[in-house]
This record gives sequence, C-alpha cells and structure tokens, in this order.
Amino acid sequence: MKFTPEKCSIEDQKMKPFIDPDEIWNYINNTVSTKEKVREIIEKSLSKQRLTLEETAVLINATNPELIEEIKQGARKLKETVYGNRIVLFAPLYVGNKCTNNCKYCGFRASNKEAIRKTLSDQELIEEVEALEDTGQKRLILVYGEHPAYSPEYIAHTVNLVYGVKKGQGEIRRVNINAAPLDIDGFRTVKDSNVGTYQVFQETYNPEAYKLYHLGGKKADYEYRLTSLDRAQEAGLDDVGIGALFGLYDWRFEVMGLVRHTNHLEACYNVGPHTISFPRIQSASVLDMNDKYIVSNEDFVKLVAILRLAVPYTGMILTARENAAVRDEVIRFGVSQIDGGTKLELGSYSHSKNEEQDLNKEQFAINDNRSLNEIIEDLIEKDYIPSFCTACYRLGRTGEHFMEFSVPGFIKRYCTPNAILTLAEYLSDYAPGETADKGWALIERHILLIDNENTINELRNRVERIKAGDRDLYF
Ligand code: SAM
Ligand code: SF4
Repeated sequence: MKFTPEKCSIEDQKMKPFIDPDEIWNYINNTVSTKEKVREIIEKSLSKQRLTLEETAVLINATNPELIEEIKQGARKLKETVYGNRIVLFAPLYVGNKCTNNCKYCGFRASNKEAIRKTLSDQELIEEVEALEDTGQKRLILVYGEHPAYSPEYIAHTVNLVYGVKKGQGEIRRVNINAAPLDIDGFRTVKDSNVGTYQVFQETYNPEAYKLYHLGGKKADYEYRLTSLDRAQEAGLDDVGIGALFGLYDWRFEVMGLVRHTNHLEACYNVGPHTISFPRIQSASVLDMNDKYIVSNEDFVKLVAILRLAVPYTGMILTARENAAVRDEVIRFGVSQIDGGTKLELGSYSHSKNEEQDLNKEQFAINDNRSLNEIIEDLIEKDYIPSFCTACYRLGRTGEHFMEFSVPGFIKRYCTPNAILTLAEYLSDYAPGETADKGWALIERHILLIDNENTINELRNRVERIKAGDRDLYF
C-alpha cells in the first residue's frame, strides 16, 4: 500500500524536522467544526483512511457534547469493526534509571539527588524476567534512562538476555524498547538483537515548551529527538512507536503533533508508526511542574477517541499510569494494548514487597496496581479477549498492524484465533480456577462467532493440543 502524502508547510524530508507550530496553531484556531463536517470526517475514518491535519483539527474543535459523543461512538465503532475485541497485554521492565538528562517532569532526572540509582545486573535482570514469566507475561517493554552506560550494545545485550530466559512453560516472545534516541549505527545494533517496537516519545511537539522542560543533557536537543525515528527507519528498524506526554503543553497541539509525525513517517518511509502512546503526567519524586496544561479525564477520553479516528491503522497503548476506572472507560475508544501487573521500581517483580510505592525509587507513580490475573479476569468479564499474540512478528509478517487493518478477513483468520490460543496457554499454565473457568467459557463463545468451519476445526484442534501440553501454536 502506498500512502498519499499530505501537503504541509514544511516539505517532508528524511531526517529533517517537520513541525511548524504556526501551521498547527493555524489549524486549531481557524478550523470551524460543524455537525456535517464532523460526521463526514468520522465516515472517512470508518472507511479506513487516515485523517489530515485539518480534519483532525475539526474533531478537536468539536465542543458540543452531542458531537463529542458521536466522535467517541465513531472511535468505538472503528475499534470494534476493524480490530475486533482483543486487548494485547504486556509489562514494562525498568532496566536502569541512571540518567544524564534533566527532564523537569521525571523522577529519574539527573538533578534529583533523592532518586536511588540502579542498573540491574544480568542476574537481577534474569530474575525479573523469570518472575514475569511466572505470572504469564509473554511481551515486555524494557525501559532505560539516558546514560552512556546504556549504549546500543548494552541495550542489545539486555534484549538478548531477556529472550534467553525460559522458566517452566514461560518465555518472552517479544521485547520492545523505550529508551533514548540513537544514531543510525546504534539503531542498527539494537535491530540486530531482534527487538520489536522501538518507542521514543517526543514529550511535547512544541519546540518552545520543549525547551522549558528539558534543561540539559542530550535530550535538550529538540530536533535530534524529533528525527530519532527517521534514523531508526534509516537503520532498517521500521517498527517504531511515537508518543506525547500529555500535561506538558496544550493537548490539542500534541494531538496535531502526533498526526504530523505520522504523516511525516508516511511521506518519507511509506510506513506509519506501529503504536501511539499518550501518557498523562503523573506525580514523581520532587516533581518540578505547574498544572497549567493538566488534561482532564473528559478531554483525555476525547483525545484518545480523536487519535483512534485520525490514525485508524495504528496500535494504541494505554498504561497503568491511569487508574482502573479511567482505563475501563478509555479502552472502549480504541486502545489495543495495555500493561498488566505493572511495577516500576527496579528489581521489584522478583522481590515483591507489600510496601507503599516509594517515588524515590520509581520514575513516577502508577495508579493501576492490579495483578496481571486481575486485569485478565476483568477483561474476560467485559468480553474482551486478552491476547499475548506475537505470531506475525515471529513469522516475519512485519507491518502486521497494517495487515490486520487492511487485509480483509485477516483478524478473523489470524488475530482472533491467535488471541484465543495465547489465552488458552495462559489459562492452562497460570490462571487460578475461577479465572480459568471464565476464560474457557469466553473461548467457547468466541469460537462460535467465527464463520469459517475450517478455522473453527483447526482452532479447536489446537486448543486441545494446548490442553495436552503443546505450546506456542499460532496461525
Ligand atoms: N529515558 C528515555 C526517554 O526519556 O526517552 C526512555 C524512557 S522514559 C523512562 C519513558 C517515558 O516516561 C518518557 O518518554 C516520558 O514520556 C514518560 N514519563 C516521564 N516522566 C513521567 C511522569 N512524571 N509521568 C508520566 N510519564 C512520565
Ligand atoms: Fe531521563 Fe527519560 Fe526521565 Fe528524561 S524522561 S530524566 S531522559 S529517564
């Protein structure tokens, strides 16, 4: 598939900055949002086309509660009709919190002398992964501060280490990364370790605001960060995740920035981001922030729905920064991945204590402390299929998020059956009795919804093989 480039004020060039704040503000300030326009734009998105900056601004400017409700329902419909009702689960694993940067919002910043610094030793990392495997996790995102100790070689080493840990029936089948931007060679080194998605969040797309929050270290260079995922593409690492930290600047600008980043990657590399993240700022050790741009729950739901509609082919990630009630609400409007059983303190998966969160040991506070199993049970009760699927990635079907979106019948043939198979593994190996009962009933219900007899038969056959002890079966 070839993306049609969108004409923007700055011509898209590889590894060159592309954000023009005046252009973004112009759209936000001068775009009129009428009922007809909003409905037309929702229809465009439901026909699986990415929205332009102007169309995104129309949705942003819709303030009438009835129209906002239509935007939310549009996002919900897109999610249901295009993606079905799987939710992919993962866990973050903090590898090291040394950091030479001074991001005002982050507990790990260099000037925070209260922070307790730590990098996991290889043995500690292995123990963390074993503890995560014991709960049933199959997908991790490794997180690092920005520090010379966390070189591309070191990152690649930790990724390889994680893939090598097998405990009982457990293994990690996909390792994603959230770390500092690298140069092209650095991205190449990390790519060779078979990494999944490489996430770099721009934090704020507004260059002036960016300057205020990033007071030193390499991260103070806005343009180097903005072009980081171009360098990943140049290195052949085409599976990238973008994000903005909501609460630093006007949320409307950040939504436009994320869409502009998406159309830049499409224009230069004919590939959009694999995932979009939209973390909201949380309290952190010695937080140095004011609350001018704090995003209300109401706006948060609206912005997630707009992002879903604006970039219909991308995975959307919602983390345990948000509490269970917000997650429940937001998940309906387009989220495809959530973390479960999350702990941010280094080493805390293997040495779990029933202590209060200690912000001097964590990057920021989390608000959803449920275990992975509690989250899985909750999803099952709401008729979502919890999934640990990694099939496409391992079969070399890269760009899978795009296939599931664009290939008719892909979800029914591959995604739903694979979600069911990975859930069957979880139920067999890790779920307590009550969760298992609910999970097997969900599997039966969803098998009956598949309309192809061959798929049903083959799926039933594989579920039985999993019950009998086979593992890692996928379509
Ligand atoms: N150090 C690397 C970097 O800055 O890109 C990688 C990881 S950083 C630990 C992960 C992300 O956490 C940041 O990109 C930022 O968006 C988010 N973050 C930092 N402080 C936060 C806070 N107080 N609340 C919520 N998210 C925060
Ligand atoms: Fe360091 Fe990342 Fe925190 Fe900034 S956000 S202080 S770079 S860990």
